[in-house]
Amino acid sequence: MANEHLRQQLANLYRLQEHDRELLSFHQRLIEIPRHIEKLELSVTKFKTDISTKTDELAEIEKSLQTMNVELETNGEQREKFRNEQREVTSNEAYAALENQIEFLDQKDAETEVQILELMEKVDLMKEELDKLNDEVASEDKIKSKKTAEFREEQKVLKADIDKRIKQRSQFLPKIDKTLGTQYQRWIEKNKGDFVALGKNGTCGSCRLTIQPQSLKEAQKYEKLVYCSNCKRVLYVEPLTTDEPYP
Ligand SMILES: [Zn+2]
Repeated sequence: MANEHLRQQLANLYRLQEHDRELLSFHQRLIEIPRHIEKLELSVTKFKTDISTKTDELAEIEKSLQTMNVELETNGEQREKFRNEQREVTSNEAYAALENQIEFLDQKDAETEVQILELMEKVDLMKEELDKLNDEVASEDKIKSKKTAEFREEQKVLKADIDKRIKQRSQFLPKIDKTLGTQYQRWIEKNKGDFVALGKNGTCGSCRLTIQPQSLKEAQKYEKLVYCSNCKRVLYVEPLTTDEPYP
């Protein structure tokens, strides 16, 4: 008959280990949540930055358009002035000089009008783009709010779960001999991984290597702690008889 006390100890330790594994995964998930929220925030901020850059650019173009229109108006007044002067001059030279000035203004205005048309096309395009961006940011913002709320809810649930599990943990501990508990704690802190390895079908459940026959035989007696010769974990092997609980 195998030593029931140590088998029970290994079973308790294994349960504690599983409990701690879950606790750790909850902790990790909790730590990740703020990063996910931040990422959502960033995606919206990026959109908003794009919109503000484009809005500034559009305002600049509209300002240029205004300046050009004022220029056209001023040139119009100047042209009118030249024409009036033309009516009053008496020499052909003076008339021709004024005609030259008028032609120069005409040429300048023609260039400005081409520029105005080009810029107006650009303004239309940019307004379309801005409309699209505004729609996108609105939907992105909606998604962000929804997902952030979900993450906050998950945070709450996780925190409550973690508290519950920490309390449950203190119920496991008294069932484990102090030296074994200390050994477990030290291993966990040092190796950040399993201390107990299940042994099934003669194989170590952690490193997947075959347990040496002598070790297996000893481990099945549960008279002393038997370690996997490869990964150095404590072996909790399947009992010889199926009527004993496992793991
Ligand atoms: Zn192993």
